[in-house]
Parts: sequence; C-alpha cells; structure tokens
Amino acid sequence: MIQIINKKDCCGCAACVQRCPKKCINFKSDSEGFLYPIVDADKCIKCGLCIKTCPILNSNNKKDPIAAYAAIYKNETIRNESSSGGMFSLLATNIINEGGVVFGATFDKAWNVIHSYTQSAAELWRFRGSKYVQSDIKESYIIAKNFLKNNYKVLFTGTPCQISGLKHFLNKDYENLITVDVSCHGVPSPKVWTQYLNYLFFKQKINKQDIGNIYFREKSNGWICYNFAIKNSKEEIIYKEPHTENLFMKAFLSNLILRPSCYVCQFKQGKSNSDLTIADYWKGWEVYPQIHDNKGISLVLVNSKKGNLLYNSLKTELISFTTEYKHALKTNHGLQEIEYTNKYRDIFFKSLDKENIEKLIKKYTKIQW
Ligand SMILES: Cc1cc2nc3c(=O)[nH]c(=O)nc-3n(C[C@H](O)[C@H](O)[C@H](O)COP(=O)(O)OP(=O)(O)OC[C@H]3O[C@@H](n4cnc5c(N)ncnc54)[C@H](O)[C@@H]3O)c2cc1C
Ligand code: SF4
Ligand code: SF4
Ligand code: SF4
Repeated sequence: MIQIINKKDCCGCAACVQRCPKKCINFKSDSEGFLYPIVDADKCIKCGLCIKTCPILNSNNKKDPIAAYAAIYKNETIRNESSSGGMFSLLATNIINEGGVVFGATFDKAWNVIHSYTQSAAELWRFRGSKYVQSDIKESYIIAKNFLKNNYKVLFTGTPCQISGLKHFLNKDYENLITVDVSCHGVPSPKVWTQYLNYLFFKQKINKQDIGNIYFREKSNGWICYNFAIKNSKEEIIYKEPHTENLFMKAFLSNLILRPSCYVCQFKQGKSNSDLTIADYWKGWEVYPQIHDNKGISLVLVNSKKGNLLYNSLKTELISFTTEYKHALKTNHGLQEIEYTNKYRDIFFKSLDKENIEKLIKKYTKIQW
C-alpha cells in the first residue's frame, strides 16, 4: 500500500485515492495545506493497485513534441479573458460543440480551487484563466472515466501531474479522450491562498458576497504587465494590483509556497503523455514580432497524433505559426525541470500558523525572475 515517507514523492494527483477498490485511502491536508493520501490499514486488502497507479512510482520518459506553434485565438474578447493566447477556450468550445465534456480548474463558492467539469459553453468562463493554487482534483478521474465509457468526447485539462495521474488511473487509451496540460511553474499551497484571501478581504474591506470572479492574470495593463484582480458580479474591477506588487504572486513566483514535489517535478517535457501542452509564449515575439500585440500569445506543443489532428482542424480559428521547440524550451521556465528552491520555504511554512501572512510574505520574498 501507498505510504508517503518523503513529501517530494507525492504530487497530490489522487490517482491512488480514486483507484483504491476498498475506498480506504483518505486525502488529508498537512500543516502546509497540501493534500496527501493516508491509508486505513485495517480496511486495506494489500492489492497493490495504489502503487501500480501512482504516476511518480511509475514515471514516463521524456519525449520531444511532434510540432510547436505560436498561436493566437482570433476571438479577441475570449483571448482578453484568458491568461495567454486563449488556446484553452478554443479547444473547450470545440469539444462542447461536439457534445463533449470539459474538465478543468475552477473556484468553488468559498474561492478554493477545485477540479470540475462542464458540458455547457456558457459555463466555460469558470474554467478560463490560470488559478495559481493547487486544485483539488476530487473524483474527476472517476467521473471522466464514466463519460468516456459512455462514448462522450472528453477534454481533460490540468497540470502535467494531473494528466499523468489520469492516464495511470485509466490504464488504457480512449479514442474519445483529449488531454491538455499547462506548462507548470509549480502549484502554491491552498492554505496560504485562503489565509491570503482572508487578509486581503479584511484589509480592503471586500465583502465575499460581492465577488464575481478572481483573476490572477487580468490584462487591462497588457499581457506582460498583468494584474491580480477581483471583479464584482457586474464584471467591474473592485480590486487590482500589478502582479509584481501583489503579495500572493510574489510568494508564488519566488517559489516560496510551492508543493514539495514541484521542486523535483517528474512530469515535464513530454513525461505527462498529454496530447497537447499549452503555455505562455513569452519571447514568441523574438521569432514572430508581427504577432506581438501585448494581448497574449499561446505556445502550443503537439505531443501526439490525436493532438496533431485536433490542432490542425482548429487552425482556421487561429493565427498560428510553427516555431522551434528549442526556442520555446529556452524561453519557458515552466517547461524546464528544476525549480529554484527558495531557501526560506521551510521557515515560512513553520511560521505560517504563528505570524501574520502579510508580514511573513514580505519578510521572505525575493523575486528571482
Ligand atoms: C499552476 C500553474 C502554473 C503555470 N506555470 C506556467 C509557466 O511557468 N509558464 C507558462 O508558460 N505557463 C504556465 N502556466 C500556464 C498558463 O498560465 C496558462 O494557463 C496557459 O498558457 C493556458 O492559457 P490559455 O490562454 O490557453 O487559457 P486560460 O483560459 O488562461 O487557461 C485555462 C486552463 O488552465 C487550467 N488551469 C487553471 N488553473 C489551474 C490549476 N490550478 N490547476 C490545473 N489547471 C489549471 C484550466 O483547467 C484550463 O485548462 C501555468 C498554469 C498554472 C495553472
Ligand atoms: S493496497 Fe489496495 S486496498 Fe490497500 S490502499 Fe492500496 S489500493 Fe487500497
Ligand atoms: S502522487 Fe498521486 S498516486 Fe502517487 S501517492 Fe501521491 S496522490 Fe497517490
Ligand atoms: S511542477 Fe510538476 S509536480 Fe508541481 S504541479 Fe506542476 S506538474 Fe505537478
């Protein structure tokens, strides 16, 4: 049975939890706010399925993509609401138009980040935009498998480790499944996110009931100088701060609050086995200056034949140029394997329950980009 001795050996994908035939693995938060599996040994029948399903214990090899593209979704309104070039929304709309179902990260009513799904194009706004917090995957793999078995087209999106967890959980290929991962810098602690939000709401006198949505990548100052922002239900901005000044973004980008497994990530550069990888194409303008309008360029890595077919079928909706994988890799930190470990990470988390979050983040952040 699964036993986590070193926290770096668990990415929190919950494949083991969802696979266990006796439902005897509980997912519990540790003192840093990250979920880990804990087995109820009395109920365990020692079948070993949890170990066989774990994507860290059964990791894949690296592989180069078939093709790499700089891409911009032609729908300007949607691109503006998206973090990069709007690639997720194009893929999701296409699957829904074909009667399919889309899985991705969204907020729940208390502004926790969770995985969920939709079959409605009108609901896609909930999944749009990067949420820089580890999303609780819940029972998404089990639900996705049911849709797949009932012949629905399924688009499953998430971090590379979530996609790898899904693939290990399913343990077979489904023609009707498309998997898309995001290039991943790492995921911040849900506990730090909750503490930060409570601090922000109190300091800015924001009433939770007034909030319509929270944006980590609001683009009114452009794609590069993006803001952290909160809007009300009429889509009016009620709080906005450049990401370089926002405390939560500082803590995220200086690698202070990431899950331990992110510092030794096993899922980048093709290891997740996703069909497509989507990212920000920072420095895409070095190759194609004509597409740089500071509104967002997606980098799309095509990793499989299925991904290639889908991407080519959507090209009329895109401004799309081929690019060099090597250039993309060099300019995208999220695609690279080793994250810089912030030397203050441990002391930060040890102090989390004792000190004020504002003081703590200010004390321990040094932005490294
Ligand atoms: C935690 C995290 C770290 C990232 N790090 C990098 C990076 O270092 N470099 C880089 O180029 N790009 C990174 N990205 C990806 C980038 O921010 C965009 O999400 C991506 O380019 C897609 O943009 P879009 O315009 O196509 O769609 P958008 O609408 O902006 O993105 C929505 C997509 O992101 C997924 N998503 C959002 N939040 C989460 C979450 N918490 N967990 C899992 N999936 C989520 C949704 O399920 C959906 O598929 C990261 C994303 C996340 C979530
Ligand atoms: S060994 Fe089998 S029963 Fe025991 S925790 Fe793992 S999956 Fe569950
Ligand atoms: S990485 Fe996923 S499957 Fe492996 S132990 Fe952690 S939660 Fe379970
Ligand atoms: S950095 Fe790696 S381990 Fe961390 S969330 Fe991203 S894919 Fe998962």
